[in-house]
Amino acid sequence: MKERVLILGGGIIGLACALEAARTGEREVAVVERGSFGGQATGAAAGMLAPYSENPEQPDAFFQLCQDSLNRYPEWASRIEELSGADVGLRRTGSVGVVFHEADLLPLQSRLRWQQAAGSGGELLSAAEIARLEPKLAAGAAGGIFTPAEAHVDAPRLAAALEQACRQLGVRLDGCTGGLASLELRPHGGGGSPVRLTTENGESYEADHLVIGTGAWTGEFEQLFGLPATVHPIRGQICSYEVPDGLVRHMVFSSQAYWVAKSGMRLVCGASEDVAGFCSDVTAKGIGRLERWSARAFPMLADMKPKLSWAGLRPATRDGRPLIGRLDGYPQVIFAAGHYRNGILLAPATAAAVLALLEEKQLPLLRAFRPERFRSSSAGAAVPAAAPAVVPELSAAGLAAAAQRGRDGR
Ligand SMILES: Cc1cc2nc3c(=O)[nH]c(=O)nc-3n(C[C@H](O)[C@H](O)[C@H](O)COP(=O)(O)OP(=O)(O)OC[C@H]3O[C@@H](n4cnc5c(N)ncnc54)[C@H](O)[C@@H]3O)c2cc1C
Repeated sequence: MKERVLILGGGIIGLACALEAARTGEREVAVVERGSFGGQATGAAAGMLAPYSENPEQPDAFFQLCQDSLNRYPEWASRIEELSGADVGLRRTGSVGVVFHEADLLPLQSRLRWQQAAGSGGELLSAAEIARLEPKLAAGAAGGIFTPAEAHVDAPRLAAALEQACRQLGVRLDGCTGGLASLELRPHGGGGSPVRLTTENGESYEADHLVIGTGAWTGEFEQLFGLPATVHPIRGQICSYEVPDGLVRHMVFSSQAYWVAKSGMRLVCGASEDVAGFCSDVTAKGIGRLERWSARAFPMLADMKPKLSWAGLRPATRDGRPLIGRLDGYPQVIFAAGHYRNGILLAPATAAAVLALLEEKQLPLLRAFRPERFRSSSAGAAVPAAAPAVVPELSAAGLAAAAQRGRDGR
């Protein structure tokens, strides 16, 4: 019998994991999504693949994961395009990171040193060079960095293509209304299915592995498995202007906002960060801030209003790093969530990591992303080795869950 993988959450992370798990044809894969596939943070994203701009400080494990994921993108994107027949909008434009104050030049230089050593191919830019690369940018830049390796995709298109590619590989993609009704876990190799899950609309699933890819809603599942709930939503507001193609040539980063030109005369400007619970409305304050920065950075935008504005909920964790790993004590469960500002970038590396976990391979890099890392020693002690067979209800999700732990042999 084929191994069965059940994935909760149909954003880019859940879909990428599904594609990878289904790739060899050795597994039956299903994804359960309670809204629309790609309809949450994934559909809101600017689609930047920018490990160097996003990691100005140090080449730590998170940077390595980001860089590895960027390196995987060309092959991954073309596989999705082949399977789906759709263009995911991968553009290898490079990026210009610009500073307007001399005091900001020193951190820029130290960033450049370690990033060059890490293979960024980056170069320091003078004001004149910035003006040559981005003629529409306002005068007065103190300097900048050009990073040729950075790229971007069209995130909503990528999500739609990924969904189609999953279908092509025979992945079952199901919507569910309302959420989950029950979840039971049993040990691998014992009687019955290791994972049994029922949704509120009455669908039942049996699987060998459960992958939690539920984005900003993952705190519910951390609690369910006795972990502190660390994943939380950070709202991102973003907008786009209608400008002729080609006016902005690279991704442009400043300390306050970024701009990235998409096909179809769209110049996307993002993104605010605020805490608004699970509300994903835009506000006049959030978009107004982007408008002010757009007018300062690109004088051509001063008399324009954004054509579109929207928002999404980034799945943040306490340390800004994702949770990727099998859960201690629950060998049936893999977390792949909490990708915060970089889930589009991190999708291929996360999917590869999840496949390695399904194949029981050890990846030393994943130690930095263990889902249990926020558990304090006292909280750890509160979860006994022989854990209770029934995990408390998930009231926030309306989930009446009874999860039987695998390790105690029941
Ligand atoms: C404005 C903005 C700009 C961004 N720009 C970038 C960028 O340029 N580059 C980049 O790399 N990243 C960017 N990000 C971050 C990126 O969008 C996220 O990190 C990424 O989309 C997270 O993907 P996900 O699949 O984990 O979450 P989501 O896309 O939110 O998907 C999670 C899914 O799980 C579903 N779900 C939740 N609970 C359940 C349940 N109980 N049962 C079934 N389904 C459930 C939800 O309905 C949702 O569809 C941006 C985010 C925002 C908001």
